[in-house]
Amino acid sequence: MAGEAKKAVVLLSGGLDSATAAAEAKAAGFDIYALTILYGQRHLVEREAARQVADALGVARHVEQTIDLRAFGGSALTDEIAVPKDRSTDELTSGIPITYVPARNTVFLSLALAWAEALGAFDLYVGVNCVDYSGYPDCRPEFLRAFETMANLATRAGVEGTGRFIIHAPLLTLTKEQIIRRGLELGVDYGLTHSCYDPTPEGLACGHCDACAIRLAAFATLGRTDPVPYR
Ligand SMILES: [Zn+2]
Repeated sequence: MAGEAKKAVVLLSGGLDSATAAAEAKAAGFDIYALTILYGQRHLVEREAARQVADALGVARHVEQTIDLRAFGGSALTDEIAVPKDRSTDELTSGIPITYVPARNTVFLSLALAWAEALGAFDLYVGVNCVDYSGYPDCRPEFLRAFETMANLATRAGVEGTGRFIIHAPLLTLTKEQIIRRGLELGVDYGLTHSCYDPTPEGLACGHCDACAIRLAAFATLGRTDPVPYR
């Protein structure tokens, strides 16, 4: 298949990080197969952001999968639990926050792996990073390494040796400022993205949850205005 670009499955939430990771996949020369998992209470806002980001990137295909993790709950993003607001830097960086969704990245990467194997793709991109959200156990490098090992054991493609699955996490050790700076170099339009854990029904960001706080602080540090609308 000379001349044909390699395929990468990219987990695209519509957030700032996943948009940047997708832009990295594109910059690396992959055709992008974007996978958006709609799992909780922010369905509509996230879906719209993911669609716009996918359009802007010119993806080869965009699949939306609905998996209602609200059936399990256990997180402020999937249950009747208030999203924390206006937390201090100490609070932001200590412990595992209530916005952690049980085993979310394991579930998401498993779906991305399933699609990749069906496509004949071996490269998966995920926008996790372990700097700003150091408390999330499924954003750590050891988790990603373990998943990559599992992926090559769990699949026909891995067992038959037709290729080796690689989990790309290009943002893993970047700060939010570094992620935004890199994304701007790559031409990411952050005005299309959505990060807030508690948007208004119209999709306006709250400006006070952890995701908004970290995002706003990073843009401020860069001397820029965050282009998304806030309530
Ligand atoms: Zn927010």
